Amino acid sequence: MKTDKPDDENKTINKSIVKFASVEFDKIDPDATLPAKFDRLLKTTDLKKVVGDKVVALKMHMGRGIGYTTIHPLFIKILIRHIKEAGGRVFITDVGPSFSSGGFNDLTSRDRGYSEDVLGAPIYPVSGVFDKYYYSKKVDFKNLDEIQIAGHIHDAEVMIDLSHFKGHGISSYGGALKNIAMGCVTAKTRGDMHSLHSGGSGIVWDENLCDHCNKCVDECRYKANFFNDENKYEVIIHDCTYCQHCIEICPNSALSLESRNYLDFQEGMVIATEEVLKTFNPGNVYYINILLSITFICDCWGMSASSVVPDIGILASDDIVAIEKASLDLITPENFNPKSLPKDKALREGRHLFEQIWGKDPYTQVEIAARRGLGKPDYIIEEIK
Ligand code: SF4
Ligand code: SF4
Repeated sequence: MKTDKPDDENKTINKSIVKFASVEFDKIDPDATLPAKFDRLLKTTDLKKVVGDKVVALKMHMGRGIGYTTIHPLFIKILIRHIKEAGGRVFITDVGPSFSSGGFNDLTSRDRGYSEDVLGAPIYPVSGVFDKYYYSKKVDFKNLDEIQIAGHIHDAEVMIDLSHFKGHGISSYGGALKNIAMGCVTAKTRGDMHSLHSGGSGIVWDENLCDHCNKCVDECRYKANFFNDENKYEVIIHDCTYCQHCIEICPNSALSLESRNYLDFQEGMVIATEEVLKTFNPGNVYYINILLSITFICDCWGMSASSVVPDIGILASDDIVAIEKASLDLITPENFNPKSLPKDKALREGRHLFEQIWGKDPYTQVEIAARRGLGKPDYIIEEIK
């Protein structure tokens, strides 16, 4: 849009604000550290305008099993206090399994400190205890024709999308977008989205050309392929980086790449996010990304590992595209911690550290979201001291 303002000012207008509280501190004083800065970040946010006198769903991922690198309850308590002071009636929500069994000695999210008595807000399974509380929206993308939006999200007036930012084997990373796409829908919709890639890895095996020399399996650095009990070639989509090495080294040209199906998965996630966001009035969703304990793998694995880069801080914005782009931009390969990956997992080429880990470009998700009008990739960092 052309205005009569100076060029520099026009450029600024076209950028979204991303608030940033850095983990760096300049003196030995609790007030100089991240929780205090997060408190100041929230004070400088007009939360009253967003949550005042409204029912607020605080969506987060509570992790599973013996994972210990999910969001620290202290930050959630600070956030809930601010929401309440601004007049919001807040509840916390996540997908059901986090509330039942963590799958390891009966550990649950409660064992990570996520309980009403600790956090100060009730906790509800996002689509009900039986995953049957949802609203159906029709979409038209490949085999994805419906998004079942979780009832507790759909019926809330405001959503605070509180995300632990980390790597992810299929989508390269998990942040604000994934917290909505996978966490604000039913298990059926999650399955439908996964079937966008698991309906086929995209690597096609021609049985008639294969002589079972096993080279493709022996030379896959990611242990992402195998021959099953019926001697048919299979790819483990979560681990496959689409390096195409198996395709290139096959002496009989028995393997080929049909399509980069994981791109469909990324697009499907953005479509689900879009449908969820449509249920909120403009200005009624706020995003907070926690860039601490940035593990290579998602919290849903029920395990933790050392952070791939040193802790960074907390970002907040009303623009989902800007906050995701800013979060990715802050994670740089120069700071990579080699102890953060399994010993046999090596880095490969890629423009982002998560691409070097998973072989999938994390910016793809952001670019699709920007193309579909969910937000702006250009941002200005406003640092909170
Ligand atoms: S490298 Fe090719 S021929 Fe050898 S087992 Fe794999 S697919 Fe079959
Ligand atoms: S594309 Fe690469 S990572 Fe995937 S199965 Fe083939 S060799 Fe392994």
